Amino acid sequence: MEKTDIMSLTCDEIGDILGQAGEKKFRAKQIYKWLHVKRVFDFDEMTDISVQLRQYMKEKFCINGLFVQKKLESSIDNTVKYLYRLPDGNFVETVLMEYSYGHSICVSTQVGCKMGCRFCASAIAGFVRSLEPSEILMQIYQTEKDAGIRVSGIVLMGIGEPLDNFENVTKFLRLISDSGGNDLSLRHVSLSTCGIVPRIYELADMKLQLTLSVSLHCPDDKGRSEIMPVNKKYNITQLMEACRYYIKTTGRRITFEYAVIDDVNSSEEDAAKLAALLRGINCHVNLIPVNKVKERSYRTTRSAAAAFAKRLEKKGINATVRRTLGSDIEAACGQLRRDADKQANANGGAGI
Ligand code: SAH
Repeated sequence: MEKTDIMSLTCDEIGDILGQAGEKKFRAKQIYKWLHVKRVFDFDEMTDISVQLRQYMKEKFCINGLFVQKKLESSIDNTVKYLYRLPDGNFVETVLMEYSYGHSICVSTQVGCKMGCRFCASAIAGFVRSLEPSEILMQIYQTEKDAGIRVSGIVLMGIGEPLDNFENVTKFLRLISDSGGNDLSLRHVSLSTCGIVPRIYELADMKLQLTLSVSLHCPDDKGRSEIMPVNKKYNITQLMEACRYYIKTTGRRITFEYAVIDDVNSSEEDAAKLAALLRGINCHVNLIPVNKVKERSYRTTRSAAAAFAKRLEKKGINATVRRTLGSDIEAACGQLRRDADKQANANGGAGI
C-alpha cells in the first residue's frame, strides 16, 4: 500500500485518518506539533507517542524530505541559493535572502513552468509537474534547518506559476499559517502570478491576508503578448479588472512586478501608458532590472531601471527598484535547475 504524504495534511486530516483506524483523534495534534513546530521528521523520535502508534504511523505515512543537490552562497550579501532534489529525482530552486528585518525565502511551486514568459529561465527548461503542498513547505523547513534560522517572510516567486497549482498552493498557505503548527501570518507572504485571471478572483474570495504580486511587465496588449503568452488568454483589461476586484474584496494593496528591459518596455511612452493604467489603483510598482538569461538577449542596467522609476514617480505612481541580491551566484531563477537537468540527462540519470 502506498504511504500517505503526511506533510501535505492538515491536523484535522491526520486526525480523521487516525480516527478511522480506531486511534485517538487528539493524538493528531501532538504529531502535528512534532512535525511543524519541533520539526522532527522521524516518527521514532516522537517520544510522547506510544510505541504502538509510532509503528502505525510508520506503516501508514511517509515524510518526504528534500536533498540539497547544490548550495551556492553569495560572498556579497549572504544570499544562499539551494538546488533541491525531490523524492522523484526532479529539481527545484529555493533562495534565502537576508534583510535588515530578518530572512525572506523565495520558494518554487512547480517543476518548471508552462507559462512561457520570454525573459524567464524557468520557461526554457520546460514544465514537468506541480509540487505537492509538502514539497513547497519542506523547501522552507529544510532551508531553515540548514541555515539555523527562522524566516520572517515568504515569497512564492521561484520556479512555477503558483495559480497554475492552485489547490496545492492554497493548501500550503493553510499549513504554513496554521496556529497549531508553524503559525506564520500570511501578511508576511507574497504570491506572484503572471495573471491567471479566474484564479485571481478565486483567491480574492478566500480573503487571505497575503500580498498579491502581479507580473505586468508591459502596459499594452501588443507588447505584453509578445513577452508573456498568457496575455493572449487573459488580456490587460481583464487582468486589471481582476486586480480591482482583488483589492476591493481583500482590502489589500497589490504589487505590480515590472522587469525593466531596454528597447522593450522602458521608454517614456511606456511610462505614460503604465501610469495611465495604474492611476487610482491602490498599488505599488516593483521594478526589476531584467536578469540576463543565457539563451536570451534581453538586458538593461540598474540606472535605466532607476530612470524608469523616476518617470513613473513624476506621473504620480509609487515605484521602487528591487535590490539585487546574490548577483555573484548565478542569478536568474530557473538556471540552476536547467543546468542540473542537462547534466542528469548527459549522465543518463534522472531529470526530464
Ligand atoms: N509565475 C509567477 C512567479 C514566478 S517568477 C509570475 O510570473 O509572477 C517571479 C518574478 O520574476 C515574476 O515577476 C517574473 O516575471 C520575474 N522574472 C522572471 N524572469 C526574470 C528575469 N530574467 N528578469 C527579471 N525578472 C524575471
